[in-house]
Amino acid sequence: MGSVAKDGCKLKDLIGAFRRHSRSAFTAGLGILLGAGALLWWTRPLRSDNFVFYLPAARDVLPVRTLGETSYLPLVGVLNLVGKVDALRESSNKLSLWYGDNTLEVRDNNRKVTLNKTSLKLSEPVRFVNGQWLVPVDFLSVVLPRLVKEPIEYRAGDKRIFIGSAKPATFAVRLESLANGARVRVEFTSPLTFQTAARDGKWILYLGDRAIEPLEQKFDFDNPYVSDLRFDDQDGVPKLILTPKTSGLDLYPALEEGGKVLRADILKPAAPATGQATGAAAQSAGPGQAGGAEGPAALPQRPTLPVVVLDAGHGGSDSGAQGPNGVLEKNLVAQIVVRVRTALLATQKYRVILTRMGDTDPDFDQRAIVADTAHAAVFISFHAGNLGFRSPRVAVYTFQPPGGGSTFDPLAPRPLLMPWNEAQTPHLAESQKLAQALEEQLSRLSEIQSGPIQPAPVRVLRSVDAPAIAIEVGSLEPNTDPAPLLDSQFQQKIASAIVSALDAFEGGVS
Ligand SMILES: [Zn+2]
Repeated sequence: MGSVAKDGCKLKDLIGAFRRHSRSAFTAGLGILLGAGALLWWTRPLRSDNFVFYLPAARDVLPVRTLGETSYLPLVGVLNLVGKVDALRESSNKLSLWYGDNTLEVRDNNRKVTLNKTSLKLSEPVRFVNGQWLVPVDFLSVVLPRLVKEPIEYRAGDKRIFIGSAKPATFAVRLESLANGARVRVEFTSPLTFQTAARDGKWILYLGDRAIEPLEQKFDFDNPYVSDLRFDDQDGVPKLILTPKTSGLDLYPALEEGGKVLRADILKPAAPATGQATGAAAQSAGPGQAGGAEGPAALPQRPTLPVVVLDAGHGGSDSGAQGPNGVLEKNLVAQIVVRVRTALLATQKYRVILTRMGDTDPDFDQRAIVADTAHAAVFISFHAGNLGFRSPRVAVYTFQPPGGGSTFDPLAPRPLLMPWNEAQTPHLAESQKLAQALEEQLSRLSEIQSGPIQPAPVRVLRSVDAPAIAIEVGSLEPNTDPAPLLDSQFQQKIASAIVSALDAFEGGVS
């Protein structure tokens, strides 16, 4: 409606203030926030049912249960995330827990928690529902600080808690108008990295490993190119989700100022007549048709070949399983991955991406992000372990969601953003097909024992948004001769089996 020119003069719309916060501000404010918490909690739209725990070396999520008007967390789940429950005893309506040097007692329908004979009061009663002990979320501010030696940052009403010394970064957002688009500047309090993905007409900027505490969750823009920017970490992975106003726009994100500023330019593509994309467009991904099908991301140098992501398990300080004579799982699977990569590239039908280069140990989420941002056609994870006395032997796994069965309904419309920890669910049938194709190839090799395909809660597969399987070769354990596994012919046969399996998988990966 000709609003472009008008908006063009609106320079430097300050959307959010750049603020630093400190731990002391948190603790000082806790009392006041706790009071206001109950109110804030319910006026906030609950977009997800997860609670995120940022731990010193990891992050994890627990499901939030809502009973009446209160949000509850599973007690044993919380304690096992921040430490380890040593023992527990249940009687008719009472649970006693031993946790390090502490004894903790709760009762069903009772607000009182007894910690080492000290009585503490929660805002709402503990509940015992479907075999699970649930505590109201204020357990995190009333009881947890007495159990955990590390500093805790938790704002009542938030669905995230920071445990340990790492101070979360925060950020401010500002919008600027450009001649043919808009620029969103996100200023962080400490440097970070990012990776871009596109899905369902939105751009997703994964913010790497850092713990991030947003001051605001959502920024709405009055702009012809960009609708809003939203922070989301409810699946345990901090990210910004940018929604363009219309389809057909390009995103050019870049880091500036040593990684402290993320600049995202949303531009109208240049008319074809004026030609060439410039070298400045180093990273660009277009969300394509808004509301359209999966990931049409238009990277300028987007590969036309399907991407196969190979994941060598473990690495760095995590050696995995160990055989005699210092044979380590991490090195063995890295060796196999190199052979598989070479075999796949030789076909000239695939592009191959590895989740780790060299002896590093990316966490499960980082491995999945590699696959998801590359729009992997297939993901294969490699492990080695003890598969019994017959060696060599190969086992193929597909992901099994916790609790066994999947509630995924293939006919239901796909949500705009699949929760991160359920990304594999819609692909389970395809993953099964891929596993079968590989199993079929392996069964032809008389010298290798294999099968049957096993569903297993292989964590690295959980968040992969593509057909995904895990392969375990064995046996790698202290009492079995590892020589057959190190044999180049054995490894080459696995590589060839994978190439043939990908060929057979739905008549070739596309
Ligand atoms: Zn392993």
